[in-house]
Amino acid sequence: MNKTNTKVKISCHCGSIKMELLLPEKIDKIIRCNCSICSKNKGFGMICIPSANLYLIEGQESMTEYFFNTMEYPHIFCIICGTHTHHKSRSSPGKLCINIACIDGFNSDYLNNKIIKFDGINHPKDKILK
Ligand SMILES: [Zn+2]
Repeated sequence: MNKTNTKVKISCHCGSIKMELLLPEKIDKIIRCNCSICSKNKGFGMICIPSANLYLIEGQESMTEYFFNTMEYPHIFCIICGTHTHHKSRSSPGKLCINIACIDGFNSDYLNNKIIKFDGINHPKDKILK
C-alpha cells in the first residue's frame, strides 16, 4: 500500500461496483470532511487522486449520481447497497475523492494519526441556502 503506483481494487459493499485505482503516491493522509453529506455517511474518510487513475471494471449499471448544493459535483452511490464509493472533488478540479473504506483489504488503523480534517461545511463553493 505504501509503494508508488500501487494498484488497488475498490468495491462497494455488495460487490456490484468493482474498480481499480492506481495510487499516484503512498497514502500518507486520509481526509475526513465535516460537510453535510460526509458527516451523514458515517464519517467518510477519503483520499483524492487524479481522475485518470480510477478504472471501472464492472458495475456501471449499479451506479447512481447524487447532486446537491452547487449541483456540479456528483457523488456516486451503489443503487443496490447504498455504498458511497467516490465523488468528484470541488476543491481539487480533475480529482476524484475515493471512500477509503471501499479499498479492498485496506486497514486504516495505522494511519489514525494522519487523518486530515477538512472543513467542508464551510466550503467556499457552496451556495448559501437560507
Ligand atoms: Zn453495492
